[in-house]
Order: sequence, then structure tokens, then C-alpha cells
Amino acid sequence: MSASPKPIAPALPARRTFLPFALPDIGDREIDAVTAVLRSGWLTTGPEVQAFEKEFAAAVGVGHAVAVNSCTAALHLGLEALGLGRGDEVLTSTMTFTATAEVVEYLGARTRFVDVEPGTLNMSPAGVRRVIASEYRRSGDGWRHHQSGARLKAIVPVHFAGHLADMAGFVALGEELGVAVLDDAAHAFPAGRNGRGVGAFGCPTAFSFYATKTMTTAEGGMLTTDDGELAARVRLMALHGISRDAWKRYTAEGTWFYEVVEAGYKYNLTDMAAAMGRVQLARAGEMLARRSRIADAYRAAFDGSAQLEVPGTESGVEHAWHLYPLQLRLTGLRIDRAAFIEELRARNIGASVHFIPLHRQPFYRDRYGYQAKDFPVAEEAYPRLVSLPIYSRMTDEDVQDVVAAVGDICDRHRS
Ligand SMILES: *Cc1c(COP(=O)(O)O)cnc(C)c1O
Repeated sequence: MSASPKPIAPALPARRTFLPFALPDIGDREIDAVTAVLRSGWLTTGPEVQAFEKEFAAAVGVGHAVAVNSCTAALHLGLEALGLGRGDEVLTSTMTFTATAEVVEYLGARTRFVDVEPGTLNMSPAGVRRVIASEYRRSGDGWRHHQSGARLKAIVPVHFAGHLADMAGFVALGEELGVAVLDDAAHAFPAGRNGRGVGAFGCPTAFSFYATKTMTTAEGGMLTTDDGELAARVRLMALHGISRDAWKRYTAEGTWFYEVVEAGYKYNLTDMAAAMGRVQLARAGEMLARRSRIADAYRAAFDGSAQLEVPGTESGVEHAWHLYPLQLRLTGLRIDRAAFIEELRARNIGASVHFIPLHRQPFYRDRYGYQAKDFPVAEEAYPRLVSLPIYSRMTDEDVQDVVAAVGDICDRHRS
């Protein structure tokens, strides 16, 4: 580094308007589709949901897709169908949203968070294997935690930012250990790894259509699987535990007869949402292509910077680019992450942080006694994470504004 003071660049004019961190990509086709449902007289679960499920199953390449009103619901129902309950335990990534873990608590089971790998910030099969080797012992009916005594029932991988985790590895590990795998693919539609698409690795998979996700129905989700029995259980529990077989069997009573065979939930998707989802599904590839170009532009601008580390990608991965999580190199900067985000805001650029690791959150920390030292990779990454805007409605100028603002902040605050 040169000892002479660097000339300070003239202040960049900030954007005139604020660039939000995330915006849904809704056009006339979505608006027309929803309007048609509103005019049809049938608003809630009906023909649009049925068509959406069929089209989504075909897109993923699986036998069954059950539409629900959130990914949280899909995760909850997926774990319920796998038989998760009291005395069971679930391993998942600490770098995720609380929805991934709260559903385990709904069912009275325990979570054990696992640290992630540098670069991708994904949980790996090797990391899970290490946790099992050190904390669980084999007992008659599976693997039990040496302290809680709980039985390891499921592994829930997450695809941080849209970078598909090693799903083939997780499914193989699950088979080897006799532990179920449920895929939280909230960030990862569409995405792939080594030529296989998300959802096509042989385990049930949950998708999110929340407003900021890669395709949206405002609120919505989907559980996909090749297992017909599991799909039937999810479908039953998604709508009050009311059996549909009853009216199929007794056609004379067809219009009014039903049987409640379980105390189910109210998780069904509306036809308005499904109509929006069908259009978004048809546009998912085109929206991903736009996000990929934005990711390319960010990489070209930031890779190799002394202040910035771009998201790591493994070869063979088709990234969904739901998020663009930069990691600041704090030794190259005189400001911290919070100030960096303030500086972005001062330049009219929205940003966010994904995620505050779950082991740090009061509920989980207090309940399980997690300690920072057990999550060295997440702890090292967390204070450096800044998610930049990446969505298909961004114009080339928006992207250049982000690049210029980030570059300007790095220039002004380099150490
Ligand atoms: C958004 C998100 C969810 C929950 O999705 P909803 O559709 O809002 O319920 C679950 N897991 C992860 C990793 C998410 O980011």
C-alpha cells in the first residue's frame, strides 16, 4: 500500500430515487390472471390450484406437488408426514430463516443447528457427519443424542442464497444412517447441481412463493415428492384432516358428505394466488436469466477487491441467485457492516443481512445453550454479510448504481 494519501474521489451524486432491496416482478399477465379469478366467482382452492400443482410437479420432475399457503406450512406438513414428534431431533443449518427451525418446535421436537462451509455458507454432508460422530450414538432404533437422548429423525438442508447444497450427498447420508431428509428449497427455484434440478434428489422438498422470493404468489408454498403416501398425508393435513375419499366413495352423498379423520391444519392456497403462481412459473427461467446477469455484473465489479468477497460458487451448480450476499473484508475497511449499510442507504440503495445465524437468536440460544465457539464459520461470516439487491425488475442503470455506490464506499473508507 502506498503511504501517500489517496485523493478522495468527488462525491457521487446519489440516485434520485430509492432502490428497494427487493421488489416482486409482477406484470400484466399476473394481474390479468388474478383478475380473471376474481371475476370467476371461485376465489379459494379450486381449478387454478389444481393446474398450478400439475405444472409445478412437471417443472420439478416429480410425481406430486401439494400447494399450501407458505413454505413454512410445507415444511411443517412435510415433517409431520415424516412422523416427527416429541423425543425426536432435527439437524439443520444455522444460516437460515427461523421458519426452517420453528416448524420442528411446532411438533414438539428439538433442533440441533450445524455450522456451514466457508464460501457457500451451506451446511455440508461432511459437517453433518462430524456432528453425528461427536454427539450421537447408535442405539437400537437409530441415532440418539448423547445428552438430550432424543432420536435423530431428519436432516433439513437449506440452499443459502440459492446455491444448491450437496443434495445427492445428503440423501445418500440419510439412507446410510436411516434418517429422513426434507429439503428447504425456499431460496432455490429454479436451481440445479450436476445436471439435476432442485426437488429431483429423491426427498420431499419445500418451496416458498413469498413476495421477495424468486417467484411469488404473495404468500404461498409447495411441497413436492415422489412418495404418493407422503403427498396424501400432506394433502389431508393441509385442509383440516378432512378426507376426500368419503365423497369419492359415496357419490350419492357427493356434494355434502365428508369425514374428519385427523385434527388437521388450514394451510390451503387460494386460486388467486395459484393463478399468479402459474404465470410466475412460466416466467421463472426468464427471471432467473436476468438475476444471473446481475450476479455476473457484481462479480465482474467486485471480485478481487481488497474490501469485498463475492459469494462462493461450486462447480456444477446452477445458482438461483435469490440473494447476493457479499462478505466485507473488514481489514480493508475503516467502517463496519452496519455503517456500510448506512452508507448504501445514504446513496439511495437498499440492502439487508442474511442471516443472523439462528444459534444467536434468543429463543434458540436460551433453549439449547448454543455457544458461538461451536459455529466458527457462521460467526466469522456474520459480521461481514451484506445482501445487495438482485431481482429481475432491476434495470442496467439500477445495477450500475449499486456497483458505483459500493465502489464509492470502498474508496472512501478503505483502511
Ligand atoms: C422464506 C423462507 C422460508 C419461509 O417461507 P414462507 O413462504 O415465507 O413461509 C423458509 N426457509 C427459508 C430458508 C426462507 O428463506
